[in-house]
Amino acid sequence: ADRKRRAAAVIEEVERSLSTPTALLRSIADAMVSEMERGLRGDIHSQLKMLISYVDNLPTGDEHGLYYALDLGGTNFRVLRVQLGGREKRVVKQQYEEVSIPPHLMVGSSMELFDFIAAALAKFVDTEGEDFHLPEGRQRELGFTFSFPVNQTSISSGTLIKWTKGFSVNGTVGADVVSELSKAMERQGLDMKVTALVNDTVGTLAGGRYLDNDVVAAVILGTGTNAAYVEHANAIPKWTGLLPKSGNMVINTEWGSFKSDKLPLSEYDKAMDFESLNPGEQIYEKMISGMYLGEIVRRILLKLAHDASLFGDVVPSKLEQPFVLRTPDMSAMHHDSSHDLKILGAKLKDIVGVADTSLEVRYITRHICDLVAERGARLAAAGIYSILKKIGRDKVPSNGSKMPRTVIALDGGLYEHYKKFSSCVETTLTDLLGEEASSSVVAKLANDGSGIGAALLAASHSQYA
Ligand code: ADP
Ligand code: MG
Repeated sequence: ADRKRRAAAVIEEVERSLSTPTALLRSIADAMVSEMERGLRGDIHSQLKMLISYVDNLPTGDEHGLYYALDLGGTNFRVLRVQLGGREKRVVKQQYEEVSIPPHLMVGSSMELFDFIAAALAKFVDTEGEDFHLPEGRQRELGFTFSFPVNQTSISSGTLIKWTKGFSVNGTVGADVVSELSKAMERQGLDMKVTALVNDTVGTLAGGRYLDNDVVAAVILGTGTNAAYVEHANAIPKWTGLLPKSGNMVINTEWGSFKSDKLPLSEYDKAMDFESLNPGEQIYEKMISGMYLGEIVRRILLKLAHDASLFGDVVPSKLEQPFVLRTPDMSAMHHDSSHDLKILGAKLKDIVGVADTSLEVRYITRHICDLVAERGARLAAAGIYSILKKIGRDKVPSNGSKMPRTVIALDGGLYEHYKKFSSCVETTLTDLLGEEASSSVVAKLANDGSGIGAALLAASHSQYA
């Protein structure tokens, strides 16, 4: 009975510290909007970098020819080729390959990482079949999706600001990532030109727009989280170049680095951040994204093991190991709807090493998953709402005209596979928008839009175009 009381006390405290009432979400969204404005002014203290992508035109559907894309951003990287057939034929054929990055390369040297990538790309190019056509005398062209914050200097160049998501490669920060890749491709004897360097959010936006003309923003919920959207060029005071003909500029918000007193930061978040590769940074991302959710759950379960002997008299040593509980496992436990939570029990046995857990312990575990996932999903929805606010698509126009159909392209393994998470994002967004406005807003899964998006941007920025 004493154990139960202690468990209840911990759970109550967790519920309190992770709670995200709608009013709080609204004030977080307001804070994000004002940080967006600061970022667009170029205020160096802004929480949101609002990076200029140099993409002022999104795909139209007329893109034509053979293009490659390379997507580096998480534990896997992907290479892709696509034969584009213009307005009528659209995507004639595409092929891709996924290669996992050996963990030691994520914390090694820049040259090793880029050599590995270029070698895999060269191998992929070697398998190009008859269905793909490169006009005589032309160089192959590539869109490079690089999902880390980059100070873009043109559509096809930019320097890395910092690594995130578990990467900490020596010698890349401050370097031009396109020239790093190009040099590595040369070392592999691969003749290919990078014509577009894009963030994955920008690639997803481009890929989403190709399929649906009403896409105005893209959000990634995967290993990390980030968003990009279409801004009016004249709403970007820090843009000193010529106003683009389109009047628009895609902005990469880098919202993962958002930080605010308003964020419900618990002791578990603080400890995880402190022990991370990038303490004090990417706070919003650490509360939302796939790399971290399972780890937050682990920390709470560990607290319950210590304070309330959740897994028996001894604290299971496996549970002490950072990141043993991965978000896909958390998701599997959370979705267990069997009457005796059999799947959850098996996962606990697997991960924590405790064979016989009572039904009550399983319910507690599922409840913790629910709390952590729900907080992440609700915070993500507040972010999406803030972008809609920024571009004036959060409510029906006051002049009585109809609100235009507004589509958000979403991608990332967390959103794609964690059903309870994605449905919570959607219901929270509906709640924030209200019934009328939300009927014009669509959240759409843009599965792997970033790869095709990068290829499309490579096409529209081709040296032959
Ligand atoms: P990245 O963000 O690295 O480019 P993805 O978009 O494929 O790659 O996202 C991968 C991430 O998605 C994983 O790190 C994991 O956190 C999360 N994820 C993958 N599968 C699941 C799942 N079944 N349930 C919950 N999260 C998942
Ligand atoms: Mg990705």
